[in-house]
Amino acid sequence: MRIKTGDKVLVIRGKDRGKTGLVKVADRITERVKVEGINIYKRHQRGGRQNRQPGGIVEVVAALSAANVMVICPSCSHPTRIGHRLDGKTKHRICKNCQAIIENVKK
Ligand SMILES: [Zn+2]
Repeated sequence: MRIKTGDKVLVIRGKDRGKTGLVKVADRITERVKVEGINIYKRHQRGGRQNRQPGGIVEVVAALSAANVMVICPSCSHPTRIGHRLDGKTKHRICKNCQAIIENVKK
C-alpha cells in the first residue's frame, strides 16, 4: 500500500474525480482510503430510541479504493506514482516525477 494517512491525494476515478484531499484513514488490509471531503454520502437517519440521537441527514465519508487516488508530491505538487528506494536500512518513498523523498517509511 503506497498511500498513508496524511498524504495529499488526487482522486482519479469516481464521482469526485479531479478533487484533492487529505487522507484520513488508510487501511492497508483492504487497500481502501478515506479522504477528507471526498466521496461523501448523505445518510438519512432515524432518531434512535437506544442511543437517543436525533434523526436527520448525516454526512458520511465513504472509503474508496487506493487504486482510485494518486499521491500529490509535496515537492513538485504533481500527482505522481510512488516509488521506493532503499538507503541503507531506511526505506524511502520517492516521487517518480521529481525523485524527491516524500517521507520515511519504517520497515
Ligand atoms: Zn515530485
